[in-house]
Amino acid sequence: MIIFKTKKEAKERLQKETIRPPHLLRLKGYGSLDYNCSCGEIHNIKEKHVSCKSSAKPFKALLRCENNFITMIKIEGFFKKKLISEYGFDSKIMD
Ligand SMILES: [Zn+2]
Repeated sequence: MIIFKTKKEAKERLQKETIRPPHLLRLKGYGSLDYNCSCGEIHNIKEKHVSCKSSAKPFKALLRCENNFITMIKIEGFFKKKLISEYGFDSKIMD
C-alpha cells in the first residue's frame, strides 16, 4: 500500500479514479472482511466506526476509520472476497 504524505499526491491519485457515491457499491453486503488500513491497523468493514466515503470503479471503496485515516480498497475474488489496500492517507493532510 502507498501512503500519501501530501494533499497534492493524494488529490492527484484520487483524480485518476472514477469516484461515485458510496451507496453504488453496497459494501456492507460483502459481510465480514478485514482490510489493512493506512493508519497501520487492521479493520473490518463491518465495524461501526468504519465508514465508506465513496465508491470507485471497479469494485473499489474509499474507507475512513476511527483514527481518521482514509484507505482505498479494492474488492477481489469471486466466491471468496478479499480486500486489497491500494493506498491511503491521514485525512488531516486534506484540511
Ligand atoms: Zn485505520
